[in-house]
Amino acid sequence: MKAVSSFSGLLTGEQKIIESIKSWVGGNLIGDDCALIACQLLVSTDALVEGIHFRRDLMSLGQVGWKAVAVNLSDIAAMAGRPRYLFVNVCAPPDFAESDFRCLYQGITDCARQYRLIVAGGDITKSEKLMLSLTVIGDVHENGCLTRSGAKPGDVVIATGDFGASRAGLFQLLSGQVGNRKAATTQARENAETSKSTDHTRDYAINRHIRPLPRLSESWTLVAKTGSTGALMDASDGLADALVQIARASSVGMMIELGSVPIHGKTKKVAAEAGVDPMEWVLYGGEDYELVGCIDANVWGEWRKEGSKGNPFVPIGIVTDGTTIDLTRHGAVAPPLDMSKCFQHLAPT
Ligand SMILES: [Mg+2]
Repeated sequence: MKAVSSFSGLLTGEQKIIESIKSWVGGNLIGDDCALIACQLLVSTDALVEGIHFRRDLMSLGQVGWKAVAVNLSDIAAMAGRPRYLFVNVCAPPDFAESDFRCLYQGITDCARQYRLIVAGGDITKSEKLMLSLTVIGDVHENGCLTRSGAKPGDVVIATGDFGASRAGLFQLLSGQVGNRKAATTQARENAETSKSTDHTRDYAINRHIRPLPRLSESWTLVAKTGSTGALMDASDGLADALVQIARASSVGMMIELGSVPIHGKTKKVAAEAGVDPMEWVLYGGEDYELVGCIDANVWGEWRKEGSKGNPFVPIGIVTDGTTIDLTRHGAVAPPLDMSKCFQHLAPT
């Protein structure tokens, strides 16, 4: 067993605090995307704070509600679970009207219904800023449960979808490229925003940022192939963070070919306009909510023989018995990961 401390230099401030909390509370339930408790339920909780995780001049309340549910569902997908119940705590500013609650809950229920999630309770209280804290409960999939710690040397590193698009969408919103500013302060405006948010023909990158889709069916496809063998997590804080978290939890190294990581054409276009290497957004942008996993090479080989139809994953590297994550880009050695570029949850404001 290799020392896991080889990745301690790659932890963000938030992750260091979480490591301390784990040692203070003891036990082994903290560390994956959900807590896997003895009765085989998956439980995950997440908070979204105005000004930190969302801005109301960039997103309507309906969009905030959708995203709050979707990111919690993504944690259930990260362990290949089946979502069941949702609890919603809303801390609302004093001027938050009943119509505002209605708009917020429109987005919450839209997303919950799409994924057959039952809103089972919650709490409302006053606060200076709008804050949502959601808890989702899911069942373990009948084929098994995947965690971050199941990767072994020789496994293939795989990922769904494409990376960097959410950060590209955020860039567009911040630079005022899309007319979503001054979102919804009136009921009529909110209704217009909510209906816009359900239009999947809108800008690809903006849509990826404001309306993430949890990769639940993709995770079920994987666990049907692997059972509980292998590793999985969702890339909520960027591809770099996902790779580090899996490598660290599994005490393995990785070799990643960045040229194999899918990047949408729109993401490349926006990055070019921004004068940014799109790989920066892929690795550190975050909020793509794609899945990153490790699968036995033989199982992967058999799956590939069936063709790419019905397989939502692409290979991006291999798991090694080393203690580092080595990157190449189209075969050439790429700069090492720089975790200071990740979203810092506990950075001073
Ligand atoms: Mg997660």
